[in-house]
Amino acid sequence: MNDMNDIKHHLNDQLLLGYSAGVLPEAFNLIVATHLEMCDECRAASHAFDSVGGVLLDDLAKAEMSNDALSKTLDLVANTRQIHKTEVDSEIPNPLAAYVGSSLADIKWRPIGMGVRQVVLKTSKSATARLLYIPAGSVVPDHGHRGTELTLVLKGAFSDETARFAVGDVEMADQNLEHTPMADINEDCICLTATDAPLRFNSWFPRLAQRFLKI
Ligand code: ZN
Ligand code: ZN
Repeated sequence: MNDMNDIKHHLNDQLLLGYSAGVLPEAFNLIVATHLEMCDECRAASHAFDSVGGVLLDDLAKAEMSNDALSKTLDLVANTRQIHKTEVDSEIPNPLAAYVGSSLADIKWRPIGMGVRQVVLKTSKSATARLLYIPAGSVVPDHGHRGTELTLVLKGAFSDETARFAVGDVEMADQNLEHTPMADINEDCICLTATDAPLRFNSWFPRLAQRFLKI
């Protein structure tokens, strides 16, 4: 894979918190887990959220975190990273491989028009995960979304009205964004996307607050 230090578009805190609290739909969990596998920065942040969330969940909000909690967390992240470096050799990150296998060549794509192909992954119905194959220079057809859409680039890159997204980058869009993603002209682009129904994303926050703050 490409140099992951080039990742410019990351998961936001809401997603990392939702992931730590276990309130995201399966399709969104998959995007977060796959990005974490590719991104040291978000993985470190996610471990920090796990630690903070654990403290709150244990109803220890009044107790301060020990002074060495952060350094312990960072050590853990460093160790985890070394393990990952040796394990991740396939072209598909581990969390995703559980759904589609470890080789892009084995994926059974279905055409959805204008050369673009997709495969819908088996996840819980609360959100939909799919792989998109966008040939070099092609545009994703009929591209509208009524809810929240997350897109993670696995191979190549695409651009839309907002920015350019390359390997490891995540775009977060909602119904207010109308965009026309177009793959770079010199390389095919493969993305993992997750979409949910309108307003579902916002409905996570009350549950999130309940889990973390016990309100
Ligand atoms: Zn990241
Ligand atoms: Zn979109």
